[in-house]
Amino acid sequence: RTWVNQYATPALGMHRADLHTLLRQQLPPNCIHLNCNFKRYEQVGQKVCVSFENGSSIECDGLIGADGIHSNVRQQLQGNTPPRYHGYPIWRGVTHTVPPGFHHEEIWGTYGTGQQFGGCAIGSDRIYWFALVNRPEQDPEMMDDQKSLLLDRFGNWHEPIPDLIAATNQTDILRHNTYDCRPNSRWGEGNVTLLGDAAHLMAPTYGQGACQALEDALVLSRCVAQNSTLSAAFRQYEQCRFPWVAKLQQLSHQLGSVMQWQNPLLAQLRNASLSILPDGWSDYLTGINAVFGHQA
Ligand SMILES: Cc1cc2nc3c(=O)[nH]c(=O)nc-3n(C[C@H](O)[C@H](O)[C@H](O)COP(=O)(O)OP(=O)(O)OC[C@H]3O[C@@H](n4cnc5c(N)ncnc54)[C@H](O)[C@@H]3O)c2cc1C
Repeated sequence: RTWVNQYATPALGMHRADLHTLLRQQLPPNCIHLNCNFKRYEQVGQKVCVSFENGSSIECDGLIGADGIHSNVRQQLQGNTPPRYHGYPIWRGVTHTVPPGFHHEEIWGTYGTGQQFGGCAIGSDRIYWFALVNRPEQDPEMMDDQKSLLLDRFGNWHEPIPDLIAATNQTDILRHNTYDCRPNSRWGEGNVTLLGDAAHLMAPTYGQGACQALEDALVLSRCVAQNSTLSAAFRQYEQCRFPWVAKLQQLSHQLGSVMQWQNPLLAQLRNASLSILPDGWSDYLTGINAVFGHQA
């Protein structure tokens, strides 16, 4: 359990669609162009020429590659290094049914052998939950009824887990495989840089992928304000961000593997150690103090 108000900045559960809406509202009209798949860039003097798969191209002052997990901008900078599969998919759901006794001020997780379940509140009337189960990347169960599958796996776990699954509409349950990349410091050149998953795809162990993309944007905007050229700003941003997010990529990978241990003896040892330690110690050992206490 992590109490959301125990750090300098309280943790906040937010629905992705709400975040997108808030961000979009800050943009001037007509500045988002859909169906323009980035293909390649070329640096021409102080400009960057960007070409798209639909045959169009633009010349601009700088390029920030924020094109996610399979980033084409990253591929051009770093070569083709496909993300590695973590060994488990994540199921996610949101429900309006708030079970009695649910603590709105905590983020919690329960760990078993090769599977885990957790959640947090989104505002006062919704609950977000997630479930992880060790499965192969090409899973024959992929096409089955996912809600029944989860109820089979977690139906006898402690409350409110079975209630949360049962209260969620089948169509509101998402399933995605999880991947990460090894840290690679080559984020940019000239007037080109990377941001978010394109720069530092990480396992979702701490729920930090989107949070770190937001921190990237904050630091990048500071660097642009402090430097007279984009290339100087981009290099300062990369030097500032890389050490921290590289550490987070490694921590997320290591802790993610420990929390999904399939060996029952190891899983029991892990759970016993975490449950006998005072909260402060377990937060320290699991890296939660370092992650939630970090100031960008
Ligand atoms: C199951 C799961 C649970 C997660 N839970 C959390 C969580 O609790 N908290 C958290 O902070 N993070 C979480 N994350 C991570 C989070 O989703 C990502 O880190 C975040 O979305 C990264 O944002 P981004 O903008 O870098 O990339 P994305 O959100 O992937 O956006 C990339 C954009 O680029 C576009 N694009 C892709 N290719 C091209 C191209 N060639 N040309 C043009 N556009 C392109 C895509 O369409 C997309 O719009 C989770 C991830 C997963 C998979």
